[in-house]
Amino acid sequence: MAILKNFINGKFVDAQAEQWQDLPNPANGERMAQVPLSQAQDVDKAVAAASAAFENWARVPAMERARYLFRFRDLLEQNKAELAELVTRENGKNLDDAKGEVRRGIEVVEFACGIPTLMMGRVSADVSRGIDQELIRYPLGVVAAITPFNFPFMVPLWSLPIAIAAGNTFVLKPSERTPQSSNRLAELLLETGLPAGVVNIVHGAKEVVDRVLEHPDIKAVSFVGSAPVAKYVYQTAAAHGKRVQALAGAKNYHIVLKDAPLEKVISLLMSSAFGNAGERCLAGTVVLVEDAVADNFVDALRKAAEELPIGDGMVPGNELGPVIREDHRQKVIGYIDTGVKEGAQLLLDGRKLNVSLPTGYFLGPTLFDHVTPEMTIVREEIFGPVLSIMRVSDLKEALSIANRSRYGNSATLYTNSGPAARTFREQIQAGMLGINIGVPAPMAFFPFGGWKGSFYGDLHATGQEGVDFYTQEKVVITRWL
Ligand code: NAD
Repeated sequence: MAILKNFINGKFVDAQAEQWQDLPNPANGERMAQVPLSQAQDVDKAVAAASAAFENWARVPAMERARYLFRFRDLLEQNKAELAELVTRENGKNLDDAKGEVRRGIEVVEFACGIPTLMMGRVSADVSRGIDQELIRYPLGVVAAITPFNFPFMVPLWSLPIAIAAGNTFVLKPSERTPQSSNRLAELLLETGLPAGVVNIVHGAKEVVDRVLEHPDIKAVSFVGSAPVAKYVYQTAAAHGKRVQALAGAKNYHIVLKDAPLEKVISLLMSSAFGNAGERCLAGTVVLVEDAVADNFVDALRKAAEELPIGDGMVPGNELGPVIREDHRQKVIGYIDTGVKEGAQLLLDGRKLNVSLPTGYFLGPTLFDHVTPEMTIVREEIFGPVLSIMRVSDLKEALSIANRSRYGNSATLYTNSGPAARTFREQIQAGMLGINIGVPAPMAFFPFGGWKGSFYGDLHATGQEGVDFYTQEKVVITRWL
């Protein structure tokens, strides 16, 4: 059984672990490898390597740093089919979703290739007579990222390419449930000739995270994961004087108005709610549908969900893959049980699978109707293939329900009415909005991040905000005597 290695100072090295975790393929339970739960000393070694590399790397001209990323981008592109298969094997999502994930990750590398322009400063001549003022951007130093299981390839790339392009050196703590994609990224980075220590990877869980949050030589932490851990990371890292961006959990409301074309809405919603087995921070999880069309909508949605092909994501045609682990499957089943107990009407029960999939962590699509805002299944993030439906009299009522959520990652409105779309855009309290878009994921040159309990920090990931997060500024005022 292969044991994953850490990647420190340009080399794959054994972790100083006393515990290891199995890495099963979620589609069949077969063990692929083991991941070490590294210790604080492993983090210290990675940070020492990153600190030593920083001095030279920060002085490499931005154009030259970008050239490593151009090479990295080409290698990712050449290997994209194999990378997508790895994502499917370790995460369970189907191959089409995995290919989309790889594409979106590569796009951040492409964005970061523009660093010479993105990092440019500003000059004002003659702010006073004979006095000029200029702003220059600098990297921060060693920065770290802690990433979740649901996008094992893409989420590390939200931070890594921008951070190193800006002249920082980097320590990554990938999810211990999907760590293999990160090591593949390291192998490809090695092929670019990137100097040793610029990127380092330490595998593990809480002990590694805690050392990252406290380490005096780490200047900034990017976190993506669940809400309670995001809040903990934000508070702890900030208490240790670090810059933090912590992207957290979600509960995304999708509002269906009566003028929206039913067939198209169903297709968009199906892939939003059940793609990636609902394990997406942009998954639509609560539908608010106008009373006038609710019965037709519910019938069509149930029919589509009943017909959804379930199975191993490697097999073409399968749309709903497994969830990440058996304990997560049990957690989702617990939420379905709670929904029933709290009086929601169970339209389709994913606990009962009508196909035989004995060894993977599969759950069928689950639909609840007549849910209320107080129910646990509406208030909490389930992170599985469960969709809840509420019926509303109009957009105004829908907005007032959606805005009561403690989360505000994304929201979608289905309509062809311009005025309704504008009202939605102005009044919904969420950071990433879709108008007839099921998964409103911003492109790499826009910021990615939510509102309210879906985000802790000031600057979102990617886009110019990502560059701002990884740089600090000097303002120089000059007078020649
Ligand atoms: P998670 O919070 O369990 O884990 C995320 C990272 O934190 C992992 O690297 C993990 O090792 C570490 N971690 C877990 N528990 C910890 C603890 N107690 N102390 C310190 N570190 C800890 O999240 P997950 O289950 O891997 O990912 C799913 C979650 O991520 C969902 O809530 C999803 O909404 C969220 N997510 C959010 C976004 C976004 O953009 N807002 C994007 C992707 C995923």
